[in-house]
Amino acid sequence: MEKELLTVIVPCYNEQEVLPFFRKEILLVTEKMAKEHPCLEFEFLFIDDGSKDGTLDILRKYSAEDSRFRYISFSRNFGKEAGMLAGMEHSNGDYVVIMDADLQHPPAFLPQMYEYVSSGEYDCASTKRTSRKGEPKLLSFFSKSFYKVINKISQTHIEESTSDFRFMTRQMVDAILSMQEYNRFSKGIFSWVGFRTKYIEYENVERAAGTTTWSFWKLLLYSFEGITAFSTAPLYLAVIMGLVFLVLAIAMAVKTLICGEEMWGTPLIVTLVCLIGGIQLFCMGVMGQYLAKTYMEVKDRPKYIIGETERGTPRGESQTRRNKS
Ligand code: UDP
Ligand code: MG
Repeated sequence: MEKELLTVIVPCYNEQEVLPFFRKEILLVTEKMAKEHPCLEFEFLFIDDGSKDGTLDILRKYSAEDSRFRYISFSRNFGKEAGMLAGMEHSNGDYVVIMDADLQHPPAFLPQMYEYVSSGEYDCASTKRTSRKGEPKLLSFFSKSFYKVINKISQTHIEESTSDFRFMTRQMVDAILSMQEYNRFSKGIFSWVGFRTKYIEYENVERAAGTTTWSFWKLLLYSFEGITAFSTAPLYLAVIMGLVFLVLAIAMAVKTLICGEEMWGTPLIVTLVCLIGGIQLFCMGVMGQYLAKTYMEVKDRPKYIIGETERGTPRGESQTRRNKS
């Protein structure tokens, strides 16, 4: 019987409170799966994203006790996107699943996800929240508007209410790893690579312990990131607004010529100067955003730096797969 390896990737940032619960739960589920499918083996790859609490100590302990528990610890906080990337780059599995440490991505879904993907019917299984219960109204409103806007202006369709809880084949993971952009917006990347995805619907669950690191502003900035990463439509704003004002200016000039009347009072001029100045600045800002993104891409900095892994501190070896090749 051919062995199959499933890598469970868990990005962690200050998760000391929840890790013991997570470990208990994931071991329970995976042991059951291993009984049902004797060919299935597991590796658990935790990414410590520069945690300031005892997360790293806990991960060291876990890996000392059980060799299936691996970890990568970043030299500082690089963000969840970098964590997921590092996890995929260092995973060995034939299948890979990415899940949060706080049990908001219930391990109980794993057997179902495995069935969908291993049957060959799908390449990826993910979850989709059916309700936004427990979420502030304003946040739900902005979140819904974000999906509406991005799906109108981007060619990549991004499914609403999905999560980063993804069970994927190695083929899909390799496709994702071929996208080495610096400004990473996973929801877009998962869609962009394509493949057949099954969305399992579920009710949102609260964090098991600890606190979320996502504030309203962080989410808002992240949504701008998504829009600029997957659409260049905002750049057309400048062209459209420029055209509108050109037409307006011509119409006004014609009107004055025809009527021969005195319509250029100071208030009108001041208003127009402010309006046009504002629009010009706005458009320059939009262009600046794309320029800034391009600047970061051109610099080609590593997306994360590893401080330590379960095999010790990396010395002389490159950090990412791409640098290695
Ligand atoms: N996370 C991370 N780096 C960060 C912030 C969060 O690796 O800078 C991890 C965190 O430990 C958790 C997951 O990403 O496993 C989701 O974070 P969180 O629960 O704070 O977000 P929410 O569920 O509120 O969207
Ligand atoms: Mg969470």
